[in-house]
Amino acid sequence: MSDLFDVIVIGAGPAGETVATRLCKAGMRTALVERELVGGECAYWACIPSKTLLRCAEVREQAPRTAGTARPDRNWEQITAYRDFMIRELDDSDEVDGYRKRGVQVFKGPASIDGPGRVRVGVELLRGERLVIATGSQTTVPDIAGLEQAGYWTNRDALTLREVPASVCVLGGGPVGIELAQLLNRLGSDVHLVEQGSRLLGREEPEVSRLIRDALSGEGISIHLDAEIVSVRRDDGHRVVQLRDADVECEQVLVATSREPRVADLALDRLGIGASRDGIEVDDRCRAGTGIWAVGDVTGVMPFTHVAEYQARVACADILGEDASADYTAIPRAVFCDPEVAAVGLTKEEARRAGIDIATTQIELRDAIARPWTFETDPRGTLGLVVYRDRPLLAGAWLVAPLASEWIHYAALAIKAKIPLNVLRDTVPQFPTYTEAFLKALDEL
Ligand SMILES: Cc1cc2nc3c(=O)[nH]c(=O)nc-3n(C[C@H](O)[C@H](O)[C@H](O)COP(=O)(O)OP(=O)(O)OC[C@H]3O[C@@H](n4cnc5c(N)ncnc54)[C@H](O)[C@@H]3O)c2cc1C
Repeated sequence: MSDLFDVIVIGAGPAGETVATRLCKAGMRTALVERELVGGECAYWACIPSKTLLRCAEVREQAPRTAGTARPDRNWEQITAYRDFMIRELDDSDEVDGYRKRGVQVFKGPASIDGPGRVRVGVELLRGERLVIATGSQTTVPDIAGLEQAGYWTNRDALTLREVPASVCVLGGGPVGIELAQLLNRLGSDVHLVEQGSRLLGREEPEVSRLIRDALSGEGISIHLDAEIVSVRRDDGHRVVQLRDADVECEQVLVATSREPRVADLALDRLGIGASRDGIEVDDRCRAGTGIWAVGDVTGVMPFTHVAEYQARVACADILGEDASADYTAIPRAVFCDPEVAAVGLTKEEARRAGIDIATTQIELRDAIARPWTFETDPRGTLGLVVYRDRPLLAGAWLVAPLASEWIHYAALAIKAKIPLNVLRDTVPQFPTYTEAFLKALDEL
């Protein structure tokens, strides 16, 4: 059997869902192919369960940080029941029905390219004038002696957990490793966090790395930097991660070192396009070839749901003949640990490498504004700004503070809209809020 579509979308994560929804609404005959669950990694095994579980752990830690409030009890059954509700009990039938009712034809099964304009899903051969590849990314399992035999967790196991392991060794000190390390630690595991680089969150400012390292080690997580993992082995019911200079004994090993594009089973060569280790290369309209677009993690541009959905909107605009051009200069990057990390725009190091002359400032929130004191009795929080020296504009900003993922958008808008610093100085934030810190930092410059 062969069906003809205006567009075939492979992958129903945030990227593919956004494309299918928009193009169907615009009147296109749309096919959406998904081999696992409609909603993708984000909805079932990544953003949603991690932020849901982190919030339960965060409330418990934050309560005693306010005056006269004790740590609340924890009911593990209710926590996992709410997590299961949030991940739809790993059942996407309502989503599939919803799409079908809206006119999107959903095909469940792994898609592979049959040739230009042809996609095979099991026995079905779909034909489409346009193809959008939105197959996302998966955990890269590092080549460590014994790891495969010893067994390990990925984000999927950690975020669907039913019982909290007594101890966990988390491999990888990036955003995923940090969030999961703090979560498991706060749920009661004894956690080791192993990072091969010299600092956590290596993409961010060194000061951010230091603050997060202090925060995590302050709550009892053992952090191993510059770590060389020699091997992993099973030993008497436990696992042992052998580092160059220490052995870490643990119940579970959690791999969060990096992610890779999901392209292996697609047969992309039949379209004459390839993918590097980072992903499918796309232009600023998310085009990967003639009549072919790629969006989301599979492009390796920035592995976030908001970027996946942004690229999807850009690709749809292009498909519909509208102006389209992706601009990544003001994309926020948040880590939902506690305190949160959020950043946008250039870091000092990126500016230096690009030969951009910058000025920087950094302020401690407890010394500058009132909100941290109304929020908690021992206030935390630091804000840093990077500004161009040759023009009165913000180039970058970073925060390590409560609610940072919310108030980073002030800086994101300033960078995106190129708001002059004197306009920012003349813009009045609500008192008492964390956002007031931007005004104080601008005054410091
Ligand atoms: C633990 C964790 C926490 C995260 N938290 C956040 C967060 O808080 N905020 C944030 O912005 N980002 C977060 N991310 C990143 C976010 O999950 C991804 O950026 C997002 O899921 C990318 O969406 P996508 O649509 O590109 O890919 P995916 O969500 O991976 O969806 C791709 C879909 O394609 C399907 N597919 C793959 N191959 C085929 C095939 N051959 N045929 C048919 N279907 C196929 C897959 O089954 C999948 O459903 C997190 C990631 C992890 C691992």
